[in-house]
Amino acid sequence: MDKRERWFSEGAPLFRQVMTRLGLADRLPTDDLYYACPCCLHAFPSEAVTAQVLTVEHVPPEALDGKGMLLTCKRCNNDAGRDFDSHAQKRAEFYSMLSGNAMARPMRAVFEAGGIEINGEAQSTGAGWFLEGVVKQNHPARLDAHEQALRATADNGEGAEFRFKIKENFSSQRADTSWIRSAYLAAFSALGWSYILQPALDPIRQRIRPGSSATLPPIIGFNPSHDAEGRHILIVQEPEELSSVVVRIGPYTVFLPDPWGTRTLAQLAESISGKCDETGRVPFNLNGKVVPWPTKPMYALDRLTP
Ligand SMILES: [Zn+2]
Repeated sequence: MDKRERWFSEGAPLFRQVMTRLGLADRLPTDDLYYACPCCLHAFPSEAVTAQVLTVEHVPPEALDGKGMLLTCKRCNNDAGRDFDSHAQKRAEFYSMLSGNAMARPMRAVFEAGGIEINGEAQSTGAGWFLEGVVKQNHPARLDAHEQALRATADNGEGAEFRFKIKENFSSQRADTSWIRSAYLAAFSALGWSYILQPALDPIRQRIRPGSSATLPPIIGFNPSHDAEGRHILIVQEPEELSSVVVRIGPYTVFLPDPWGTRTLAQLAESISGKCDETGRVPFNLNGKVVPWPTKPMYALDRLTP
């Protein structure tokens, strides 16, 4: 049995159980088994697996070293790649560039010397920066003029002057949404539908929907000193006002509502902002229950309740 078939046949009976417990079973089209995409909550029958409509989703995205963790529908998976994950990838490359780490691919850049600009590419290799004007993107005369200006500035006795600008466009808000989406999917894989079907999680789903213009309160933090490979989920019980599910993926920490629906996302965000110092760090320990990082859907809360 292929991984997707196995994940469908393990998940679908639990989904029905949870829907029955919530008094929502009559929303399922028939008595057959369905798997709800955790992003759009559309319920899919088993044929969706063979038709490749339910796809393996990587958490975090594959381009950011993610592993196949769960099933989402093809539309949610593809659209998130375009709307959010591509921005997270570009921002990660930009940060690599700033810190001089090796980059997988070059970024578009503009080089300027003596007021003459040319288009090119910039890439940090881990041992330095590689900057190159791309010949076919520039008029040959402009390339020549740029080189002459470079030489002139090096020879004028006042020190060489040369500037470059990175031209890649990314939105930090969309990049953050990609990490929030990954955190939401990891929490779903670990805890299950009982967790994500709480109203407190609705704003997250509204934000990660394709083409969404919804916004989220500040629930994500960034700490570059955290291990890039680190993957953690903690159900925070103390301090009580930060009761939440904290998902940490490398330098990103995302606060999600707790499994008991104690507070809305907005209330949680307010508690966090009251506790963080000006660098966005929480200056004390969070205590609670550590949940193992899922490598496949675990549905821990769905399995707890009969
Ligand atoms: Zn979906």
